[in-house]
Amino acid sequence: MTFSAIVVAAGQGLRAGPGEPKAWRLLGGRALVRWSVEALLQAAADEVVVVVASDRVDALDEALSGLRGWRGVAGGATRAASVQAGLIALTRDGDQPVLIHDAARPFVTRIHVERLLAGLNGADGAVPALPVPDTLKRGDGVVTETVSRAGLSRAQTPQAFHLGRLLAAYRDWPVGEEPTDDASVVERAGGRVALVAGDPMLMKLTWPEDFAIAEQLAGARRITRTGFGVDAHRFGPGDAVMLGGISIPHEQGLVGHSDADAGLHALTDALLGAIAEGDIGEHFPPSDPRWRGAASDQFLLHAVKLTQAKGGVVLSADLTLICERPKIGPHRDAMRARIAALLGLAIDRVSVKATTTEGLGFTGREEGLMAQAVVCVEMPS
Ligand code: MG
Repeated sequence: MTFSAIVVAAGQGLRAGPGEPKAWRLLGGRALVRWSVEALLQAAADEVVVVVASDRVDALDEALSGLRGWRGVAGGATRAASVQAGLIALTRDGDQPVLIHDAARPFVTRIHVERLLAGLNGADGAVPALPVPDTLKRGDGVVTETVSRAGLSRAQTPQAFHLGRLLAAYRDWPVGEEPTDDASVVERAGGRVALVAGDPMLMKLTWPEDFAIAEQLAGARRITRTGFGVDAHRFGPGDAVMLGGISIPHEQGLVGHSDADAGLHALTDALLGAIAEGDIGEHFPPSDPRWRGAASDQFLLHAVKLTQAKGGVVLSADLTLICERPKIGPHRDAMRARIAALLGLAIDRVSVKATTTEGLGFTGREEGLMAQAVVCVEMPS
């Protein structure tokens, strides 16, 4: 089912302590606001409007770089005003479901979204809710009342609505009153709001210590992915080969459409494999004259960029070069340094190994050489 989403990130988040406004603080190396936008896009939102303070609209480009399908708009003086600014900015028609989500809850997933969209069936709104496990006391310093928790729930976000009905409910909301969530606006207008199962992972980051807990959870939600790449090029006329990003004098050259650096090509394919983004030929077709004689650095850098856009971090690379000659040993550390620079890694995370095939096969006959690479990447799960 298609849906739109509004991520509200216009607040100051003063309770979270001094420093940047909450939505811009880093969690797992990414701005807090990015977590929700990325998750909603991954859950197949066809439009995400991000509402931020008016002086932060430009800063969103950086915080959300590499993501597609979102737009930033300036919010208002209150949360309700910000939500309404977001609603007005949506381009979809009034029957489409819209999810309203607070950027302070970074761990939203597709499962939450599906639950809410299902809950919206036959209702005007749907909210994730959790039971209240603690005994509730009223009082300031001294208890004046123990409040029955029977029938009480804690409401979280995202909250789902039919766009037209939410807009109408906001129009009816009394001026000067501030709703604590969007469901209460629909409730006041007589709408039916369904409670669906909430999730402790939809926790709201409010206090400084919440960030410490979230940082632990963020770490646990990242996984290591491995990619493998293979490439071979034929020897031909020349007096040097490009291999592992450096030029090595040799009595032959390597033949290829680009600079024929089989080492960097194998690494590029390994990285593309780790992030499941196709292969080098798909991104840089040999039929495209732009890549004739091209330095292969840019292929690998492109794969690094794609990795970063997915919130990934390259962890390590292991390259094996298979040839009788040229001898790799004397050039190994220069290759490692060059590859480390391209991948943004320390040199001790880059390995270059070499082997021969004992005179066997095309590498043994010195018709060409081959490269194999493994790259590990840490990615959001
Ligand atoms: Mg190649």
